[in-house]
Amino acid sequence: MRIREKILGITLCITCLLTVSSCALLPAADATNTTTEPSDSATIEFFSMDTYMQITVFGARASEAAEAARERVLAIEQIFSRTIEDSEISQIHKAEAGTAVKVSDEAIALLERAIAASEETNGAFDITIAPVMSLWGFTKDVYHVPGEDEIASVLPLVDYKNVVIDKGAGTVTLGSAGMAIDVGGIAKGYASDEVQRVLREYACEGALISLGGNAAVMGAKPDGAAFRVAITDPMNPSAFLGVLTCQETSIVTSGGYERFFVEDGVTYIHIMDPETGRPTESDLISVTIVCTEGLRADFLSTALFVMGRERAIEFWREHKDFSMVLCDADGVIYVSEDLASSFDATEGTYAEPVIVSTEGGV
Ligand code: ADP
Ligand code: MG
Repeated sequence: MRIREKILGITLCITCLLTVSSCALLPAADATNTTTEPSDSATIEFFSMDTYMQITVFGARASEAAEAARERVLAIEQIFSRTIEDSEISQIHKAEAGTAVKVSDEAIALLERAIAASEETNGAFDITIAPVMSLWGFTKDVYHVPGEDEIASVLPLVDYKNVVIDKGAGTVTLGSAGMAIDVGGIAKGYASDEVQRVLREYACEGALISLGGNAAVMGAKPDGAAFRVAITDPMNPSAFLGVLTCQETSIVTSGGYERFFVEDGVTYIHIMDPETGRPTESDLISVTIVCTEGLRADFLSTALFVMGRERAIEFWREHKDFSMVLCDADGVIYVSEDLASSFDATEGTYAEPVIVSTEGGV
């Protein structure tokens, strides 16, 4: 079951801390809703990339900027959607295996980043996960628990090394029949970076961007205060795990509670393990990445979820160019040491977080 209300709740959690008035708004599937607020600010709400989005902008040209940001997101969706018939991704999928398909520079650039993400995470994030997503019914929301044989037949199709990009020629080639690309774990982060780029062109003073589980804060609020971004409680998605105080950064959360279905009492989540072709059986239930670049925060949140607690912490120690808040299935919160003073766990629900330092055990 895709629970749009839940997703709405998640995104609103983020915005509630900034503006309470927008919390009551529940837009229709493809509705756009722009609210102009006092003191040169505007909030735009719309549905794109299969999720509810909300952008609040501060500045003299706030409404204009918000509208331009929305148009940019829709243009990105038009390129990368698997379900829009004439998207560039659909054109790649329609071509015969081994055929080079000419695409835009923008498509090449994001696909290159997605393949680099797959390499960096050693395949925990894999851009070719699409056939597995489809097999389990996540593409069309018609869920199905496949048999071993079905999984075995699609698993060989999952391998980012079989996507060939020719930057000079501007082409993408998929190595074998049935292969497909799914940018669902990286595109919203990219879109939030692009939204910020557009807003800067309009000289916006500040913005709060919430694209599904992908948030970003830019500049400052009119009173100069830092933004406070709430992280959804994975055990109770209508509540908060805690609150981050932050500036000029992206905050992206991946959690099984965002999209899942239940069959015969078993919950199947939308984050797949590319090694098994099954929903990830992670000991983590929520992964939040804080990182300047939204694109990086997005793929890392998915990848670290797949890796599980130990490997995720190891990965952070090896890289340290991002910060993280992990929550495991026992309800223990792990916070990278650089967030120790900016993360407040919700009192009464969670114990003080375990601080993950750059060295040593957990
Ligand atoms: P959400 O899209 O709900 O914000 P994520 O950022 O964690 O959550 O991305 C999950 C999406 O990424 C899935 O819906 C699917 O499109 C894609 N995906 C699932 N598993 C993987 C994986 N192992 N590697 C890359 N993409 C994945
Ligand atoms: Mg992600």
